[in-house]
Amino acid sequence: MIVAITNQKGGVGKTTTAISLAAGFAQKGLDTLLVDLDPQANSTMSFVDLDRLDGNMFDVLRGTLPLAQVIVPAGLDHLWIAPSRIAMAKLEVSMVGELDAPYRLKDALERLEAGFDAIIIDTPPTLGLITVNALVAATHVLIPIQSSYFALEGTDDLLETIDKIKARPNTELQLLGVLVTMFDHRTILSKQVLKEIKGVFGRLVFKTVITKSVRLEEAPAHQRSIFEHAPRSSGAFEYYRLCEEVLQRVGSE
Ligand code: ATP
Ligand code: MG
Repeated sequence: MIVAITNQKGGVGKTTTAISLAAGFAQKGLDTLLVDLDPQANSTMSFVDLDRLDGNMFDVLRGTLPLAQVIVPAGLDHLWIAPSRIAMAKLEVSMVGELDAPYRLKDALERLEAGFDAIIIDTPPTLGLITVNALVAATHVLIPIQSSYFALEGTDDLLETIDKIKARPNTELQLLGVLVTMFDHRTILSKQVLKEIKGVFGRLVFKTVITKSVRLEEAPAHQRSIFEHAPRSSGAFEYYRLCEEVLQRVGSE
């Protein structure tokens, strides 16, 4: 299972979902690799110090280092991370015109000898070459959508991109589901938006909804997953349930 967490809209909970799913799978004993493809490196910083790293996904996608050489332990049993760094921002420009550009991550993962039970890919808020690399390499895509005004704005472009990739480079790609994030039980708006998202995506919407939680915001600053930072919080409970729902959906295909 290789799951790309994607939405070109910024700040919708991609990174929070990527790090929490990865940590949740690891806690369940699955050997998990978190691949950070976002130049902002938020997933990376949530587990390791950037200045202690040698290689990163920039080198891998450029073809100068094998993936195996940049993977580091994330400080949690069963969890490893393939880190990003700011230099990734230059990557797309440097890859334009190279025919194999969309396949770099897929190739790197195929060459990896270590076997992982789950690979989670965090992507930047764009639909450029980096996100395309994630979608070409993935078996599944998970779309987080923030329950706020304009929640669905841009999803047409995202779905169109997924369809294009399914048509050719990656016919196996499955839309695993849509995750509603930052839900606020107290507001009518949140409820309206949830209804709207269900109206559009129907059964693709995960039963698990991630509510707003300060604990989820705090955890990365302590370089801990939500399960270590606040194991009894709603965020820990909900992301654990999401892990189970994801495993169920993947298992029932
Ligand atoms: P970007 O597009 O910039 O990569 P993103 O989609 O990865 O953003 P996150 O970084 O996960 O989004 O979340 C954006 C902000 O919202 C962060 O400060 C994060 O801590 C916070 N956040 C995410 N999920 C929740 C939640 N359920 N409750 C409260 N805050 C949240
Ligand atoms: Mg992010």
